[in-house]
Amino acid sequence: MQVIINGKILLPDREVIGQALLFDQKIVSLSDTVPEGCAVIDAGGAYVAPGLVDVHIHGYLGADASDGDMEGLRTLARGILQNGVTSFLPTTMTVPWEELERAFGCIRAFMAESARPEFDGAQALGCHAEGPFINPKRKGAQAESAILPPDADKLLAHQDVIRLVTLAPEMPGALDCIRALRGKMRVSIGHTDTDFETAQAALDAGADHFTHTFNAMTGLNHRNPGAVGAALASEAWCELIADTFHVHKGVFSILRRCCGERLVLITDCTRAGGLRDGQYELGGQPIFVKGIECRLADGTIAGSVLKLNDAVRNFRDATGAPLYEAVARASYSPARSLGLDARKGSLLPGRDADILLMDGDCRVQGVWVEGVKKL
Ligand SMILES: [Zn+2]
Repeated sequence: MQVIINGKILLPDREVIGQALLFDQKIVSLSDTVPEGCAVIDAGGAYVAPGLVDVHIHGYLGADASDGDMEGLRTLARGILQNGVTSFLPTTMTVPWEELERAFGCIRAFMAESARPEFDGAQALGCHAEGPFINPKRKGAQAESAILPPDADKLLAHQDVIRLVTLAPEMPGALDCIRALRGKMRVSIGHTDTDFETAQAALDAGADHFTHTFNAMTGLNHRNPGAVGAALASEAWCELIADTFHVHKGVFSILRRCCGERLVLITDCTRAGGLRDGQYELGGQPIFVKGIECRLADGTIAGSVLKLNDAVRNFRDATGAPLYEAVARASYSPARSLGLDARKGSLLPGRDADILLMDGDCRVQGVWVEGVKKL
């Protein structure tokens, strides 16, 4: 058994001071006393947070989940551990279906590898397939030539890997596809030109998530509320790229009020994440990175270089939310959105001991995954 003392412990709904956090492979309890025989870790006044969970991340440090390359997935998983991410969904782009199948196969093998205690990176919890069943009108940085009509059978052949799929509900056959996926994988509405009513029909059919809310979807107009209106009016999970560039930081408070716990901070990070400014590649197209901006040659925004711990800080700073709440939007909420909150996303007893030590600006000082110190 191990115990962290002198920390400010961040639970989903509050900050706890003056208690110790007991854990082995799992979180055991909060305690007023330190039991005999425990290995003691002194947090020195730092925050003790749950490991962050990123449900939408394509790449990092030159690697991309669509590459179908094990070494690339290892690079990605090790890189984001430095940002406090202990579990994630490697997220594929709209690339040709054969390439996607290769990537799913690779992620399947990597899920097993990354679950082993000796692996020195974040754990893959499955795949987020962003496309290929999207609307060409709202493709963003996705390759139009690889877009396909919705097809549940294609996805169900990989249901052991795909946990979340982004699709556009207005495409032909999409609502039947969503119904066929019910209970097998989560469906997220995104890269969509949908009207409000069709988005609501998709929610009724079983979709319960919106992909990077506001980006690559129909906006909110009071006579034509679109995908954003359906998202804000719904009980679904709403992703936010909280880099202050994809969505103005003034909107963070609107999402906080409308979504509450249903808000999920994501990075949508590309392979340029963690690297210097310059030219990189995303889904077969060149992208240009400058500061926090990532664009295609024509200026279209193309993913991000955001780090999830920075997203937490940005959200806290923009909304005035307490730190425990901002952290929960990048841990507890994403874990719940995947139906994995009994295992991941909080420091509640019985959860995997995925733990961070960090300062008040979310700079990571230590990381444990299932009770094993990784950083
Ligand atoms: Zn994305």
